[in-house]
Amino acid sequence: MAMAFPDPGFVDLHIHSTASDGSLSPLEIIHLAKELGLRAIAITDHDTIEGSAEALSQSLSSLEVLSGIEISADVPSGTMHILGYLIELDDPSLTQTLKKVQEARAHRNVGIIKKLQDLGVDITHEDVLGVSGRGQVGRPHIAQVLVQKGVVRSFGEAFLKYLKKWGPAYVPRYRLQPAEAIQMILRAGGVPVLAHPYTLAAKDEAELESSLRELKQAGLMGMEVYYSEHRPERTALFERLARRQNLLMTGGTDFHGAAKPEVQMGIGRGDLRLSYRLVEKLKEAKGRDRPKKPLVDRD
Ligand code: AMP
Ligand code: FE
Ligand code: FE
Ligand code: ZN
Repeated sequence: MAMAFPDPGFVDLHIHSTASDGSLSPLEIIHLAKELGLRAIAITDHDTIEGSAEALSQSLSSLEVLSGIEISADVPSGTMHILGYLIELDDPSLTQTLKKVQEARAHRNVGIIKKLQDLGVDITHEDVLGVSGRGQVGRPHIAQVLVQKGVVRSFGEAFLKYLKKWGPAYVPRYRLQPAEAIQMILRAGGVPVLAHPYTLAAKDEAELESSLRELKQAGLMGMEVYYSEHRPERTALFERLARRQNLLMTGGTDFHGAAKPEVQMGIGRGDLRLSYRLVEKLKEAKGRDRPKKPLVDRD
């Protein structure tokens, strides 16, 4: 249920659309954001700028739209997603790199469906395209088909039983290395930010800090401190680390619409309030704090 905000001026910098695994189109997201009285949003779809581009092409008065993307990086354990804000959407090297990543994703999906079929599950590529629509296809779409067909009872069970990392129907895919994802965003003029740092699954504060230090050396400029799944203790830890590592703090809900109904745009699980100040800081970072060392060239 949409709920109006008592105060204007809040932002949500982590939103998924139908261009990846969200259930609302970019236009529907804009309408909802306006209805909620948000001041700024960023659509950050997995490995694609389509959603962001579509939102930016709408002419808006009261709502500011920042360009955005969320890149999955290759890490040995845990999950690392890098958000890119204020990127130039027409950057040729961004387009080229994303194309490669998207092709790898499509290839991986074929492999997962084949594995499921070999496991005796009645599923086809068409079934998956039926739920994903025209956007990037991901494991969440496959999970949805498994639920719809009654193969599993829940989304979570689909991952637990089949799709989780190294599960029976898991197929690894080519992903950018963390430094490559960061550099791609920097080259496109954007601000790279580590998404939901808890998914790195660091065993303690020291281990997380050492990962942050490494990412910072690669050009990381910020981290997503404010997030739907961060309880106060975690938020405090991430604030502390961001300060120590001199990383700018951002925030967002990771809104996926009906695909994740417990998380609402703008407020997450109910208590997020993200100030427009976060956007101003991102703009300052884009303008001023570009890493000084020259970026390594990669073919
Ligand atoms: P993909 O990018 O296609 O590999 O899918 C990754 C997405 O699947 C993540 O962004 C999560 O939304 C979801 N996901 C990954 N692992 C799990 C899990 N164990 N349980 C539920 N959802 C998951
Ligand atoms: Fe997602
Ligand atoms: Fe993510
Ligand atoms: Zn996300």
